[in-house]
Amino acid sequence: MASSFCKGLFLVLLMGLFLAGCVSAPAAVSPGLPPTAVPLSADGALPTLVPTIVLEPLPATQTAVPTPTLVPTATPVLADATPLPEATATFAAYGVAQTIGSSVNGRPLESYRFGFGSQTLVLVGGIHGGYEWNTIVLAYEMIDYFLANPDQIPANISLYIIPSANPDGQFAVTGVDGRFTPANVTGDTRPGRLNGNQVDLNRNWACDWQPEGLWGETVVSGGRVPFSEPETAALRTFFLRENPAAVVFWHSKADAIFVGSCDGLFQPSAEVAELYGRASGYAVNNQFTAYPVTGDASDWLATQNIPSFTVELKTHSSTDWEMNLAGVLALLEFYGR
Ligand SMILES: [Zn+2]
Repeated sequence: MASSFCKGLFLVLLMGLFLAGCVSAPAAVSPGLPPTAVPLSADGALPTLVPTIVLEPLPATQTAVPTPTLVPTATPVLADATPLPEATATFAAYGVAQTIGSSVNGRPLESYRFGFGSQTLVLVGGIHGGYEWNTIVLAYEMIDYFLANPDQIPANISLYIIPSANPDGQFAVTGVDGRFTPANVTGDTRPGRLNGNQVDLNRNWACDWQPEGLWGETVVSGGRVPFSEPETAALRTFFLRENPAAVVFWHSKADAIFVGSCDGLFQPSAEVAELYGRASGYAVNNQFTAYPVTGDASDWLATQNIPSFTVELKTHSSTDWEMNLAGVLALLEFYGR
C-alpha cells in the first residue's frame, strides 16, 4: 500500500516536472544570423571564409566559355562539382570561384582560391582593364595551371587569383565577360584602362591620393575620394579580410618589377619583390620614376603592412608565362612549408 502510494506520488511528481518543462521558457534561440553570407561592406567587416570544396556557380553574366587553346584543363574541373576523393580533399587545392564584389556596371569581380592554408597570397590581373588585357590572360593561365597542378600549392597556403579587377574595362575592349582570347581584343584599347565611371582604378587608393592622377602625360581621374569606386572598395575589403602575406599586381608594359611602398621604402615589399625578380628575371625597382603615381594599390598595401609589388609585363600582348610562373612558384616555395 505504502509502496503503491509512493509510486503514485512519484508519477505525479514526474508529471509535474514534465509539465513544468513543457510550460517553461522556450529554448534559447540564437540571435538570428542571416542564413546567407553578410553582403560586402565598405568598412571591411566580413565573416571569415569557411574552407569548403563546393564550387560556387559563376553568376549568370559570367558565361566563362574557356577556349581550348588557353584553358585545356579548366572546363572539366570547373564544371564538375564532384569532390575529389577524401584523402586528396583534405590537403589538396581546388579552384573555388567566388564573387568578391561588383563593378560600376554590375559585372562580378571573381576570385579563384587554391588551397586552404593560413598563409594567403594574392595575384591580381587587369586592374587596368582591357588596356592591359594580357595581364588578365596571364591570370587565367595561372588559374589553369593550378587547376591542373593542385599539388603545387603547399598545405599552409591559400592562393587567390583575381583575374580581372576591372571587368568593365575588360568588356570595353573585348566585348566579353570572364575568359576571352586575344582575338576578342578590338580597336583602341586605351579607353579600356578606366572603369565604368571613367576612373583609373590604380589612382583610387589611399596612398598619396589625388583627385587627378597621371598616366604618362595624360590626366586621369583618381575618383571622388579614395575607394570611391566599387572595384577598389571590394578589393580593399578583401585584402583587409584576408591580410595576405604578399600581393602581386600584374600590369603592362614597363618590363620590370616595382616595389609597393608609401612614403619611404617598405622593406618587406622590397624583399618579396626581390624574390620574384630573381626567379622571373624581371629587374626590380624600388620606385616607378617615369612619372608621379598617386593612389596606387600596391603602395596602399604597404600602409597596411602588407608586402606587395607590381609586375609590369614586357609588352601589351605577351603573358611572359615562364617568367611569371617561376616568380609565383618562388613565392609558394618561400611561404610554403
Ligand atoms: Zn597598369
